[in-house]
Amino acid sequence: MNSDLSQTQSKKVRTRFAPSPTGFLHIGSVRTCLFNFLYAKKMGGDFVLRIEDTDKERSKPEFEEDIKQGLKWLGIIWDEGPDTNGKFGPYRQMDRLDIYEKYARQLLDQSHAYYCFCSEEELEAKKQEMVARGHAPIYDGKCSNISKEEAQQRIAAGEKAVIRFKTQNKVISFTDLIWGKVDFDASLFGDFVIAKDTRSPLYNFAAAVDDYLMEITHIVRGEEHLSNTPRQMMIQSALGFGHPQYAHLPLILGPDKTKLSKRHNAEPVGYYKQKGYLPQALNNFIAFLGWNPGTEREMFSMPELINEFSFERCRKSGSIFNIAKLDWYNGMYIRQTPLDKLTELLIPYYQEKNLIEKISDREFKITATNQTIDFATLSLIVSLYQERLVKLEDIIEATDLFFVELPSYEKDLLLFKDMTYQQVANSIDKCIELLSNAESFQKDYLQTHCLNAIQEANLNRGQILWPLRVALTGKKASAGPFEIAEILGKDLSLKRLNFAKKILG
Ligand code: GLU
Repeated sequence: MNSDLSQTQSKKVRTRFAPSPTGFLHIGSVRTCLFNFLYAKKMGGDFVLRIEDTDKERSKPEFEEDIKQGLKWLGIIWDEGPDTNGKFGPYRQMDRLDIYEKYARQLLDQSHAYYCFCSEEELEAKKQEMVARGHAPIYDGKCSNISKEEAQQRIAAGEKAVIRFKTQNKVISFTDLIWGKVDFDASLFGDFVIAKDTRSPLYNFAAAVDDYLMEITHIVRGEEHLSNTPRQMMIQSALGFGHPQYAHLPLILGPDKTKLSKRHNAEPVGYYKQKGYLPQALNNFIAFLGWNPGTEREMFSMPELINEFSFERCRKSGSIFNIAKLDWYNGMYIRQTPLDKLTELLIPYYQEKNLIEKISDREFKITATNQTIDFATLSLIVSLYQERLVKLEDIIEATDLFFVELPSYEKDLLLFKDMTYQQVANSIDKCIELLSNAESFQKDYLQTHCLNAIQEANLNRGQILWPLRVALTGKKASAGPFEIAEILGKDLSLKRLNFAKKILG
């Protein structure tokens, strides 16, 4: 058997992402999905979303919703899927039971599959025995000898049975687009279960049928599915179907080189969205988990990824999930985002923390002070921190000082190096004098005005500017005092300086 069927090569490329809605969308699934999407789009083909929801207990509509929302947010948009009118639908497996029933019956009729009546206990006992004898625990084929008539009678009488595929003892080979030639000795599989009954298909069977009927040309999925491929190919052959091409992506590993899991702080996509990772950053980062452009370049937009993608540039060895790298990408993309757009992205974070309330698109109310703040001022605040943000949510910690009447801090923070409280109090007095006299509160004016005065009076710059900045912000680190004073305005700046004096006692 060979998957390199020339018949698939002339067809329009069609790939699919086939998640089981049994959990939230996670990084590994996005990687699979993204590579399917990139390849389909690169080849001018179609990308299909198929929901594999045959595990009735574990599949949940909210997980399907989470998967779809996550993909939409990332800009990985399917051409066909559960909510489109594609001609290969339905796209949810539970809506395709008639189809699987038809093919299960065909496999049974043509003796490619048979009913197995062995009980769980019996199978377990046989398994233990084989393991004890040093054999791989495969099914011994006992029920393959039952005649079709007898099996039908027993089923009709209500006896419980599963459907097993009759595996041929031969080597199954295919050429994987990433791994090259792969051989599997199918005799090691034994006769495997493909359905719990004619209307309850299991993964390998349902996927094999759907991939054929949906005219999928390329199957791109994780390395953990490598050994499913020969099973699916055998089912396709038994049904007289051709085979698609396969590309198995390397495992994603944590920094300790073990399979990526929650232990490595890998979280569902919704978590990254909430923290304020940008979709471009995630896509770019995820694309590099298994692919590289062959150059030093690291920043790729989605259209650029589509353009550059190839399986030749995918590697077999595991890819390390390094959150520091994701942070790096995110900072880069935040810096590239136009200020207006970035401000728009940040407004929900302020609203969520109840720092501002929306009056209109361009006007907001500061909750703590009841003052109005316009979009331009918000943008100005954001502009002070655009260079330093790693995640959007970091804006709150950096800028909450603009949304309170008075900051709260320990008085020792006002001390610059070995200053005494008395010296700080004098510095604050000086600042009050300087800001009160200021003819304008524009930052350049304030800077010249203050620095000149400091120089004329022969004062220590740090001893004035540090207490000024802390009094205005209440923070160890922030943007410079003049930029902040400009935004706070004269009244609030003086109020904060007077408050600092009060703190000093
Ligand atoms: N439903 C399977 C999964 O989520 C699909 C695997 C495949 O792509 O064939 O793992």
